[in-house]
Amino acid sequence: MEIEVKRNSLENFSSLQDTDDDIEEDEDEEPVTLGFVEKPKNPISLLPHFFPSKAGGTPAWLDPVDLPSEKSRTCGICGEPLQFLLQVYAPISDKDSTFHRTLFVFMCPSMACLLQDQHQQWKRRPEKQCRSVKVFRCQLSRSNAYYSSEPPKYDKTDKSSRIGAALCNWCGTWKGEKVCSSCRSARYCSEKHQVMHWRSGHKLACQRISISSQSSESSTSNGRTTSTEMSLAVASNALWPEFEIINEDESEFDTEAPENNDSSSLVPKDQMDDTIESLMENFEGDDDKKSWASFHERIAKAPEQVLRYSQDAKAKPLWPMSSGRPSKADIPKCNYCNGPLCYELQILPQLLYYFGVKNDVDSLDWATITVYTCADSCEASVGYKEEFAWVQLSSPSAMAP
Ligand SMILES: [Zn+2]
Ligand SMILES: [Zn+2]
Ligand SMILES: [Zn+2]
Ligand SMILES: [Zn+2]
Repeated sequence: MEIEVKRNSLENFSSLQDTDDDIEEDEDEEPVTLGFVEKPKNPISLLPHFFPSKAGGTPAWLDPVDLPSEKSRTCGICGEPLQFLLQVYAPISDKDSTFHRTLFVFMCPSMACLLQDQHQQWKRRPEKQCRSVKVFRCQLSRSNAYYSSEPPKYDKTDKSSRIGAALCNWCGTWKGEKVCSSCRSARYCSEKHQVMHWRSGHKLACQRISISSQSSESSTSNGRTTSTEMSLAVASNALWPEFEIINEDESEFDTEAPENNDSSSLVPKDQMDDTIESLMENFEGDDDKKSWASFHERIAKAPEQVLRYSQDAKAKPLWPMSSGRPSKADIPKCNYCNGPLCYELQILPQLLYYFGVKNDVDSLDWATITVYTCADSCEASVGYKEEFAWVQLSSPSAMAP
Protein backbone atom coordinates (compact mmCIF):
# COMPACT_ATOMS: atom_id res chain seq x y z
CA MET A 1 0.00 0.00 0.00
CA GLU A 2 1.20 3.48 -0.86
CA ILE A 3 1.40 6.28 1.60
CA GLU A 4 -1.68 8.31 0.93
CA VAL A 5 -1.17 11.54 -0.94
CA LYS A 6 -2.27 14.51 1.09
CA ARG A 7 -0.89 17.50 -0.67
CA ASN A 8 0.45 18.40 -4.02
CA SER A 9 4.04 18.63 -2.85
CA LEU A 10 3.91 15.15 -1.41
CA GLU A 11 2.46 13.41 -4.41
CA ASN A 12 5.07 10.92 -5.15
CA PHE A 13 6.42 11.02 -8.61
CA SER A 14 5.70 7.40 -9.32
CA SER A 15 2.03 7.73 -8.49
CA LEU A 16 1.76 10.49 -11.02
CA GLN A 17 3.44 8.29 -13.55
CA ASP A 18 0.96 5.52 -12.82
CA THR A 19 -2.04 7.64 -13.73
CA ASP A 20 -0.42 8.26 -17.06
CA ASP A 21 -0.28 4.59 -17.94
CA ASP A 22 -3.96 4.65 -18.90
CA ILE A 23 -3.44 7.27 -21.54
CA GLU A 24 -2.03 6.35 -24.91
CA GLU A 25 1.07 8.43 -25.38
CA ASP A 26 2.88 9.25 -28.56
CA GLU A 27 5.64 6.80 -29.34
CA ASP A 28 8.35 9.38 -28.86
CA GLU A 29 6.91 11.34 -25.96
CA GLU A 30 7.08 9.44 -22.71
CA PRO A 31 5.12 10.96 -19.84
CA VAL A 32 7.25 13.45 -17.95
CA THR A 33 6.68 14.97 -14.54
CA LEU A 34 7.91 18.53 -14.20
CA GLY A 35 9.31 20.03 -11.00
CA PHE A 36 8.84 23.68 -10.06
CA VAL A 37 10.28 25.52 -7.08
CA GLU A 38 8.21 27.48 -4.61
CA LYS A 39 8.97 29.13 -1.31
CA PRO A 40 7.59 26.66 1.25
CA LYS A 41 4.41 27.92 2.88
CA ASN A 42 5.48 26.11 6.02
CA PRO A 43 9.21 25.26 6.29
CA ILE A 44 8.30 22.38 8.62
CA SER A 45 6.94 20.56 5.57
CA LEU A 46 10.52 20.18 4.33
CA LEU A 47 11.60 18.11 7.32
CA PRO A 48 12.60 14.49 6.64
CA HIS A 49 9.47 12.88 8.10
CA PHE A 50 7.35 14.60 5.45
CA PHE A 51 9.49 13.03 2.69
CA PRO A 52 9.97 16.28 0.79
CA SER A 53 11.30 17.08 -2.64
CA LYS A 54 13.31 20.23 -2.17
CA ALA A 55 16.08 22.39 -3.60
CA GLY A 56 18.69 24.44 -1.76
CA GLY A 57 19.26 24.80 1.96
CA THR A 58 20.28 21.56 3.63
CA PRO A 59 19.26 18.02 2.65
CA ALA A 60 16.40 16.32 4.47
CA TRP A 61 18.29 13.07 4.83
CA LEU A 62 16.04 10.04 4.44
CA ASP A 63 18.35 7.71 6.37
CA PRO A 64 19.43 10.10 9.16
CA VAL A 65 22.28 7.93 10.44
CA ASP A 66 24.21 6.20 7.68
CA LEU A 67 25.25 9.39 5.83
CA PRO A 68 27.74 9.54 2.93
CA SER A 69 31.37 9.04 3.89
CA GLU A 70 34.01 11.74 3.81
CA LYS A 71 35.38 10.44 0.52
CA SER A 72 32.07 10.52 -1.30
CA ARG A 73 30.88 13.89 0.02
CA THR A 74 33.80 15.96 -1.25
CA CYS A 75 34.46 17.45 -4.66
CA GLY A 76 36.72 15.08 -6.59
CA ILE A 77 38.53 18.07 -8.02
CA CYS A 78 39.13 20.64 -5.25
CA GLY A 79 38.49 18.30 -2.31
CA GLU A 80 36.04 20.64 -0.59
CA PRO A 81 32.68 19.48 0.75
CA LEU A 82 29.95 19.46 -1.91
CA GLN A 83 26.92 21.72 -1.67
CA PHE A 84 23.35 20.45 -1.61
CA LEU A 85 21.53 21.13 -4.90
CA LEU A 86 18.25 19.23 -4.60
CA GLN A 87 16.51 16.05 -3.60
CA VAL A 88 13.58 14.26 -5.20
CA TYR A 89 11.30 11.90 -3.32
CA ALA A 90 10.72 9.15 -5.86
CA PRO A 91 9.40 5.97 -4.27
CA ILE A 92 8.89 2.86 -6.38
CA SER A 93 5.74 1.14 -5.28
CA ASP A 94 6.30 -2.39 -6.53
CA LYS A 95 9.03 -3.25 -4.01
CA ASP A 96 8.98 -2.87 -0.25
CA SER A 97 12.66 -1.92 -0.19
CA THR A 98 11.87 1.20 -2.22
CA PHE A 99 8.69 2.19 -0.36
CA HIS A 100 10.60 5.35 0.54
CA ARG A 101 13.21 6.37 -2.00
CA THR A 102 14.92 9.73 -2.42
CA LEU A 103 17.59 10.89 -4.84
CA PHE A 104 20.01 13.56 -3.62
CA VAL A 105 22.11 15.72 -5.94
CA PHE A 106 25.16 17.64 -4.74
CA MET A 107 27.70 19.71 -6.58
CA CYS A 108 30.73 21.86 -6.03
CA PRO A 109 29.68 25.50 -6.47
CA SER A 110 32.92 26.23 -8.33
CA MET A 111 32.55 26.58 -12.10
CA ALA A 112 36.27 25.86 -12.45
CA CYS A 113 35.58 22.44 -10.90
CA LEU A 114 32.59 21.82 -13.16
CA LEU A 115 34.78 22.54 -16.19
CA GLN A 116 37.27 19.95 -14.93
CA ASP A 117 34.40 17.60 -14.21
CA GLN A 118 33.63 17.63 -17.95
CA HIS A 119 36.88 15.76 -18.59
CA GLN A 120 36.18 13.35 -15.76
CA GLN A 121 32.73 12.30 -16.90
CA TRP A 122 34.06 11.06 -20.25
CA LYS A 123 36.52 8.73 -18.55
CA ARG A 124 35.19 5.24 -18.91
CA ARG A 125 35.18 3.07 -15.85
CA PRO A 126 36.98 1.31 -14.29
CA GLU A 127 39.18 4.35 -14.81
CA LYS A 128 38.61 6.47 -11.71
CA GLN A 129 36.34 9.45 -12.13
CA CYS A 130 36.81 12.46 -9.85
CA ARG A 131 33.49 14.24 -10.06
CA SER A 132 32.28 17.62 -8.83
CA VAL A 133 28.65 16.52 -9.25
CA LYS A 134 27.41 13.55 -7.23
CA VAL A 135 24.09 11.78 -6.88
CA PHE A 136 23.04 9.51 -4.04
CA ARG A 137 20.10 7.14 -3.84
CA CYS A 138 18.66 6.32 -0.43
CA GLN A 139 15.76 4.00 0.19
CA LEU A 140 13.87 2.54 3.14
CA SER A 141 11.11 -0.01 3.46
CA ARG A 142 7.76 0.98 4.90
CA SER A 143 8.67 -0.48 8.25
CA ASN A 144 11.95 1.13 9.24
CA ALA A 145 13.83 2.38 12.28
CA TYR A 146 13.21 6.08 11.69
CA TYR A 147 9.69 6.87 10.50
CA SER A 148 6.12 5.88 11.19
CA SER A 149 4.69 3.34 8.75
CA GLU A 150 1.59 5.52 8.58
CA PRO A 151 1.48 8.62 6.39
CA PRO A 152 1.97 11.99 8.12
CA LYS A 153 -1.22 13.62 9.33
CA TYR A 154 0.07 17.20 9.19
CA ASP A 155 -0.75 17.90 12.79
CA LYS A 156 1.13 17.76 16.09
CA THR A 157 1.14 13.98 16.12
CA ASP A 158 3.74 13.84 13.33
CA LYS A 159 7.07 13.00 14.83
CA SER A 160 10.51 13.39 13.42
CA SER A 161 13.04 10.67 13.84
CA ARG A 162 14.59 10.84 17.30
CA ILE A 163 17.97 9.72 16.15
CA GLY A 164 20.36 10.96 13.56
CA ALA A 165 24.01 11.62 12.98
CA ALA A 166 25.30 14.91 14.39
CA LEU A 167 25.76 17.28 11.49
CA CYS A 168 28.38 19.87 10.65
CA ASN A 169 27.68 23.16 12.43
CA TRP A 170 28.81 25.14 9.43
CA CYS A 171 27.10 23.52 6.40
CA GLY A 172 24.36 21.60 8.23
CA THR A 173 24.69 19.11 5.41
CA TRP A 174 27.26 16.45 6.14
CA LYS A 175 28.09 14.33 9.15
CA GLY A 176 30.13 16.30 11.70
CA GLU A 177 32.84 13.82 12.54
CA LYS A 178 35.42 16.38 13.64
CA VAL A 179 34.83 18.02 17.03
CA CYS A 180 36.12 21.44 18.06
CA SER A 181 38.96 20.63 20.42
CA SER A 182 38.31 23.51 22.82
CA CYS A 183 34.52 23.51 23.35
CA ARG A 184 34.10 19.81 22.42
CA SER A 185 30.65 20.78 21.21
CA ALA A 186 30.84 22.23 17.70
CA ARG A 187 31.14 19.59 14.99
CA TYR A 188 32.43 19.78 11.45
CA CYS A 189 32.46 17.72 8.28
CA SER A 190 35.83 19.13 7.29
CA GLU A 191 38.70 21.29 8.41
CA LYS A 192 37.61 23.89 5.89
CA HIS A 193 34.20 24.31 7.52
CA GLN A 194 35.77 24.46 10.96
CA VAL A 195 37.96 27.34 9.80
CA MET A 196 34.99 29.13 8.20
CA HIS A 197 32.95 28.80 11.39
CA TRP A 198 35.86 29.93 13.57
CA ARG A 199 36.37 33.04 11.47
CA SER A 200 32.68 33.90 11.31
CA GLY A 201 32.20 33.97 15.06
CA HIS A 202 32.79 30.59 16.66
CA LYS A 203 36.09 31.99 17.98
CA LEU A 204 34.04 34.02 20.48
CA ALA A 205 31.16 31.60 20.97
CA CYS A 206 33.56 28.73 21.61
CA GLN A 207 34.74 30.06 24.96
CA ARG A 208 31.23 30.61 26.22
CA ILE A 209 30.21 27.10 25.22
CA SER A 210 33.29 25.59 26.89
CA ILE A 211 32.40 27.22 30.20
CA SER A 212 28.70 26.39 30.17
CA SER A 213 29.12 22.78 29.09
CA GLN A 214 31.82 21.87 31.59
CA SER A 215 29.27 20.74 34.15
CA SER A 216 27.03 18.72 31.86
CA GLU A 217 28.59 16.04 29.69
CA SER A 218 27.61 16.63 26.06
CA SER A 219 24.91 14.31 24.77
CA THR A 220 26.50 14.40 21.35
CA SER A 221 29.61 12.59 22.54
CA ASN A 222 28.66 9.32 20.83
CA GLY A 223 28.23 11.00 17.46
CA ARG A 224 24.47 10.97 17.60
CA THR A 225 22.19 13.67 18.75
CA THR A 226 18.54 14.40 19.27
CA SER A 227 16.44 16.03 16.60
CA THR A 228 16.24 19.32 18.50
CA GLU A 229 19.99 19.55 18.44
CA MET A 230 20.06 18.58 14.80
CA SER A 231 17.90 21.55 13.88
CA LEU A 232 20.51 23.96 15.27
CA ALA A 233 20.92 26.96 13.02
CA VAL A 234 23.35 26.45 10.18
CA ALA A 235 26.15 28.97 10.37
CA SER A 236 27.06 29.11 6.70
CA ASN A 237 25.46 31.84 4.63
CA ALA A 238 26.72 30.35 1.39
CA LEU A 239 24.07 27.64 1.03
CA TRP A 240 21.68 28.03 -1.87
CA PRO A 241 18.27 29.39 -0.85
CA GLU A 242 15.73 26.77 0.12
CA PHE A 243 12.69 25.88 -1.99
CA GLU A 244 10.05 23.22 -2.03
CA ILE A 245 9.76 21.30 -5.31
CA ILE A 246 6.19 20.98 -6.55
CA ASN A 247 5.42 18.60 -9.38
CA GLU A 248 3.02 18.71 -12.30
CA ASP A 249 2.42 16.48 -15.27
CA GLU A 250 3.91 17.92 -18.41
CA SER A 251 0.71 16.92 -20.25
CA GLU A 252 -1.15 19.49 -18.13
CA PHE A 253 0.65 22.14 -20.12
CA ASP A 254 -0.14 20.71 -23.55
CA THR A 255 -3.34 22.58 -24.19
CA GLU A 256 -2.50 25.82 -22.47
CA ALA A 257 -0.65 28.60 -24.16
CA PRO A 258 2.41 29.62 -22.12
CA GLU A 259 1.09 31.82 -19.37
CA ASN A 260 2.13 35.40 -19.12
CA ASN A 261 -0.03 36.59 -16.31
CA ASP A 262 0.72 34.12 -13.56
CA SER A 263 1.12 36.40 -10.58
CA SER A 264 2.62 33.67 -8.40
CA SER A 265 5.47 33.27 -10.84
CA LEU A 266 8.86 34.00 -9.36
CA VAL A 267 10.64 34.65 -12.61
CA PRO A 268 9.49 37.48 -14.81
CA LYS A 269 8.81 36.02 -18.24
CA ASP A 270 11.14 38.46 -20.00
CA GLN A 271 14.00 37.56 -17.76
CA MET A 272 13.53 33.85 -18.43
CA ASP A 273 13.59 34.50 -22.16
CA ASP A 274 16.81 36.44 -21.74
CA THR A 275 18.43 33.48 -20.00
CA ILE A 276 17.39 31.17 -22.80
CA GLU A 277 18.43 33.59 -25.52
CA SER A 278 21.85 34.12 -23.99
CA LEU A 279 22.37 30.37 -24.01
CA MET A 280 21.40 30.23 -27.68
CA GLU A 281 24.14 32.68 -28.61
CA ASN A 282 26.75 30.16 -27.60
CA PHE A 283 25.87 27.65 -30.25
CA GLU A 284 27.83 27.32 -33.40
CA GLY A 285 26.97 24.02 -35.07
CA ASP A 286 23.71 23.47 -36.99
CA ASP A 287 22.94 20.25 -35.13
CA ASP A 288 23.19 22.08 -31.85
CA LYS A 289 20.93 24.83 -33.14
CA LYS A 290 18.33 22.28 -34.25
CA SER A 291 18.57 20.41 -31.00
CA TRP A 292 18.34 23.64 -29.05
CA ALA A 293 15.26 24.74 -30.98
CA SER A 294 13.35 21.57 -30.15
CA PHE A 295 14.57 21.67 -26.56
CA HIS A 296 13.39 25.25 -26.27
CA GLU A 297 10.03 24.43 -27.83
CA ARG A 298 9.40 21.64 -25.34
CA ILE A 299 10.55 23.67 -22.34
CA ALA A 300 8.49 26.67 -23.46
CA LYS A 301 5.32 24.78 -22.49
CA ALA A 302 6.32 25.45 -18.89
CA PRO A 303 9.37 27.71 -18.90
CA GLU A 304 9.77 27.80 -15.13
CA GLN A 305 10.41 24.07 -14.79
CA VAL A 306 13.63 23.24 -12.99
CA LEU A 307 13.32 19.47 -13.16
CA ARG A 308 12.09 16.82 -15.58
CA TYR A 309 11.39 13.39 -14.17
CA SER A 310 10.32 10.03 -15.52
CA GLN A 311 10.30 6.53 -14.13
CA ASP A 312 9.46 5.10 -17.54
CA ALA A 313 12.19 2.74 -18.68
CA LYS A 314 11.97 4.17 -22.20
CA ALA A 315 12.28 7.79 -21.07
CA LYS A 316 15.16 9.80 -22.46
CA PRO A 317 16.62 13.10 -21.40
CA LEU A 318 15.74 16.16 -23.43
CA TRP A 319 19.18 17.26 -24.61
CA PRO A 320 19.73 20.96 -25.16
CA MET A 321 22.54 20.16 -27.59
CA SER A 322 23.35 17.25 -29.81
CA SER A 323 27.07 17.48 -29.05
CA GLY A 324 28.31 16.45 -25.64
CA ARG A 325 25.73 13.72 -25.11
CA PRO A 326 26.88 10.43 -23.63
CA SER A 327 26.82 7.29 -25.75
CA LYS A 328 25.57 4.06 -24.20
CA ALA A 329 29.13 3.12 -23.33
CA ASP A 330 29.64 6.36 -21.43
CA ILE A 331 26.98 5.40 -18.90
CA PRO A 332 28.64 3.11 -16.36
CA LYS A 333 27.16 0.04 -14.70
CA CYS A 334 25.71 0.20 -11.20
CA ASN A 335 28.48 0.45 -8.59
CA TYR A 336 26.69 -2.06 -6.38
CA CYS A 337 24.91 -4.72 -8.49
CA ASN A 338 26.76 -4.15 -11.78
CA GLY A 339 23.38 -3.93 -13.53
CA PRO A 340 22.43 -1.22 -16.02
CA LEU A 341 21.75 2.38 -15.03
CA CYS A 342 18.65 4.05 -16.37
CA TYR A 343 17.92 7.72 -17.04
CA GLU A 344 15.61 9.06 -14.33
CA LEU A 345 15.71 12.85 -14.15
CA GLN A 346 17.30 16.00 -15.48
CA ILE A 347 17.92 19.36 -13.86
CA LEU A 348 17.56 22.56 -15.83
CA PRO A 349 19.64 25.75 -15.46
CA GLN A 350 16.50 27.71 -14.48
CA LEU A 351 17.28 26.50 -10.97
CA LEU A 352 20.32 28.79 -10.92
CA TYR A 353 18.05 31.74 -11.51
CA TYR A 354 16.05 30.88 -8.39
CA PHE A 355 19.29 30.34 -6.49
CA GLY A 356 20.32 33.88 -7.39
CA VAL A 357 23.49 32.72 -9.12
CA LYS A 358 24.82 35.61 -11.18
CA ASN A 359 25.22 35.41 -14.92
CA ASP A 360 28.94 36.26 -14.90
CA VAL A 361 31.56 34.55 -17.03
CA ASP A 362 32.91 32.42 -14.19
CA SER A 363 29.56 31.84 -12.44
CA LEU A 364 28.23 28.34 -12.07
CA ASP A 365 26.27 27.36 -15.16
CA TRP A 366 25.16 24.29 -17.06
CA ALA A 367 22.77 23.40 -19.88
CA THR A 368 21.45 20.28 -18.19
CA ILE A 369 22.39 17.75 -15.55
CA THR A 370 21.02 14.29 -16.25
CA VAL A 371 20.83 11.62 -13.59
CA TYR A 372 21.08 7.87 -14.20
CA THR A 373 20.17 5.40 -11.47
CA CYS A 374 20.31 1.65 -11.00
CA ALA A 375 17.46 0.17 -13.07
CA ASP A 376 16.81 -2.27 -10.26
CA SER A 377 17.17 0.25 -7.38
CA CYS A 378 19.31 -2.43 -5.80
CA GLU A 379 20.05 -2.91 -2.14
CA ALA A 380 23.53 -2.42 -0.76
CA SER A 381 25.07 -2.14 2.67
CA VAL A 382 25.54 1.62 2.44
CA GLY A 383 22.75 4.06 3.27
CA TYR A 384 23.53 6.33 0.33
CA LYS A 385 24.35 4.65 -2.96
CA GLU A 386 26.27 6.73 -5.46
CA GLU A 387 24.58 6.99 -8.83
CA PHE A 388 25.71 8.74 -12.02
CA ALA A 389 25.27 12.27 -13.35
CA TRP A 390 26.05 13.53 -16.85
CA VAL A 391 26.50 17.27 -17.25
CA GLN A 392 26.06 19.13 -20.50
CA LEU A 393 27.55 22.61 -20.31
CA SER A 394 25.97 25.52 -22.08
CA SER A 395 29.09 26.48 -23.96
CA PRO A 396 30.14 23.74 -26.40
CA SER A 397 33.69 25.09 -26.48
CA ALA A 398 33.98 24.22 -22.77
CA MET A 399 33.05 20.62 -23.37
CA ALA A 400 35.36 17.68 -23.60
CA PRO A 401 36.71 15.85 -25.44
ZN1 LIG B 1 35.33 21.67 -6.32
ZN1 LIG C 1 30.40 21.14 6.77
ZN1 LIG D 1 34.56 25.39 19.81
ZN1 LIG E 1 22.30 -1.61 -8.67
